[in-house]
Amino acid sequence: MNFSDSEIVASIMKDNDYALAADISQADVIFVNTCSIRDRAEKRVRNRIQEFKSLKKHNKSLVVGILGCMAERLKLQLLEEEKFVDMIVGPDAYRDIPKLLTKVESGQKGVNVLLSQEETYSDLNPVRLDSNGVTAFISIMRGCQNFCSYCVVPLTRGKERSRDASSIIQEAKGLFDKGYREITLLGQNVNSYKDENGYNFATLLKKVALINPLLRIRFATSHPKDISDELLDTIAAHHNICRSIHLPVQSGSRSILKLMNRKYDREDYINRIDAIKKKVADCAISTDIISGFCDETEEDHRQTLSLMKYAAFDFAFMFKYSERPGTHAAENMQDNIPDNIKSRRLEEIIALQKDLSLKSNNKDIGKTFEVLVESFSKRSKEFVSGRNSQNKMIIFPQKDFKPGDYVQVKVTACTSASLKGEAV
Ligand code: SAH
Ligand code: SF4
Repeated sequence: MNFSDSEIVASIMKDNDYALAADISQADVIFVNTCSIRDRAEKRVRNRIQEFKSLKKHNKSLVVGILGCMAERLKLQLLEEEKFVDMIVGPDAYRDIPKLLTKVESGQKGVNVLLSQEETYSDLNPVRLDSNGVTAFISIMRGCQNFCSYCVVPLTRGKERSRDASSIIQEAKGLFDKGYREITLLGQNVNSYKDENGYNFATLLKKVALINPLLRIRFATSHPKDISDELLDTIAAHHNICRSIHLPVQSGSRSILKLMNRKYDREDYINRIDAIKKKVADCAISTDIISGFCDETEEDHRQTLSLMKYAAFDFAFMFKYSERPGTHAAENMQDNIPDNIKSRRLEEIIALQKDLSLKSNNKDIGKTFEVLVESFSKRSKEFVSGRNSQNKMIIFPQKDFKPGDYVQVKVTACTSASLKGEAV
């Protein structure tokens, strides 16, 4: 999401005659796009910006701006704590950046942390950063109002709003015409997408899938409460919609899910897993899990492990609970699981996931997949790498393949993290 937001900022800057610096040492302006989701993310930003502070010692006119969720969450407090920072800009105020830069040039600080009910940045000329020319992100909605009790996103990104479908379809077509072969539609909860002309996520997805059968479509993130049969049927009906659903479960315990205000229980989640497996053959399922949320017992933790086994997740992002100021949990519940217990539970979750991923990858040995080549392998030019529809990375020997090619690859070996194969 932040990567895509940085592209939005780059596009606004480009339209105002700024260009990307080839190297940080040559930059006149440095923006850091920040995340507040866990305390660790914020600590990393605090460390990183010290580097910019020292650059400023050598270049007095260098402008440093903090963008995104930390700017929104901490507002002016951030200016007091990091005195060398010139700009603070929240996620809905990026269009104001050129004006704020003029303010900074006249010796003032540039601050805009207003949240918007409408801003979707739908009419920009997109700029792609760090592009491989094959895969790209398209942001389709902003904000979130689900208010999971642990989560800071509704506070930093404001109300949920969807970008109009026609501008999304136009951007996707433009990318295909430029040679891109895979797009990922982004939002905090893409399956609650709803635009003013009556598109929902399933109808949007169908429209994007029909642009060209050679254009692959991925999307993230789906909320389990909104993953409808209509959406699953749409995925099943279009081979270029990838067989890979990211469906964050957070916990396998009914009572923890309730405390988290996730709006589904264990049975609902299992019902959706069963529906995916029934309707979309060969669909990979990945998830997010939080260990050690308030009041989590050993039994709750075991419920998470057992649900992981039931769903047989192919992949997971796993975190220790991190209390975020201002959230419902921070204000009304006790962060009462000691850190060593959170860590132990997290390690058990990670170990189980490694085992599940390895089992899932082992099952692929001997199968042939269509792989979209993304890049040359990091280790050697003799290999190329790409992903299959299930979002698994496959490495295979080079035979004049170029990024953007579709290649049929037979899997011959695996680790828990990736597959190896040969073109057939
Ligand atoms: N909108 C997505 C999640 C976005 S945040 C969804 O609801 O599924 C990405 C992930 O960060 C979440 O799924 C959750 O697992 C994790 N996360 C969010 N807040 C957290 C917190 N306070 N502590 C630890 N992990 C958190
Ligand atoms: Fe946060 Fe919940 Fe919204 Fe996801 S759905 S961004 S976890 S509040």
